[in-house]
Amino acid sequence: MTPDRLDRFARHIVLPEVGGAGQAKLVQSHVVLVGMGGIGSPALQYLAGAGIGRLTMIDDDKVSASNLQRQTIFKTSDIGWSKAEVAAEWLTAFDDEIDFVAHAVRLTRDNAADLIAGADVVLDGSDNFATRLAVSDACVAAGIPLTSAALGRFQGQVASFAGHRAGHACYRCFVGDAFDAEDCDSCADTGVLGAMVGMVGAFGAMAALRVLLEGVSTLGDPQWGLVHVLDGLKPALRSMRIAKDPECSACGIVSSGA
Ligand SMILES: [Zn+2]
Repeated sequence: MTPDRLDRFARHIVLPEVGGAGQAKLVQSHVVLVGMGGIGSPALQYLAGAGIGRLTMIDDDKVSASNLQRQTIFKTSDIGWSKAEVAAEWLTAFDDEIDFVAHAVRLTRDNAADLIAGADVVLDGSDNFATRLAVSDACVAAGIPLTSAALGRFQGQVASFAGHRAGHACYRCFVGDAFDAEDCDSCADTGVLGAMVGMVGAFGAMAALRVLLEGVSTLGDPQWGLVHVLDGLKPALRSMRIAKDPECSACGIVSSGA
């Protein structure tokens, strides 16, 4: 790293839990962000701030006025423009040394493998179960860790999964197959508080950093399969370990012999 970069990341480097080795790993890492909305916005900001070397941003949506209450990288003049492309503009203005790809497409079961290829971790901040399960299944198939961050009103859920590894659950082990077909939740129907989704997005970014630092520095404990449930109203946090489902259609067979 150049003196400028060392200066930029100095507060990470002096942290014993990250250190110079940890920062060097972050700079060499590739994170794929699925969904550039309420979770993806703060996640992008903290991951870019952390100096992640390459960021892939995926979202087929366009910025609307009702997004601005919580999707912190967008401003009024972005209304009507592609979220992925505006996110890329934000990133370039923030730190032009970070490599990036912006995909203004919807992630589906058909294109997921191509979109996440080469990632060190995928951070899923999408807003529906069909996308989340497509992301998870593609991660298991490709052997890529997944950090999932989701929000239902005042309850946030953040967890990292390594379903491609023996003995570790995937996201599908957690939620099952029930939601495969359709979108089950929507902020438009239930409402969402901006600061709450910001907490969950930042929490998701931190969980992804833990994955990237596995085996490098002490922050690198990914806590695989440990779902952190954040009650934003009390506020309170509880955590529950998800066991690998031997019958899981995504990871039950793949890793049984691994
Ligand atoms: Zn599974």
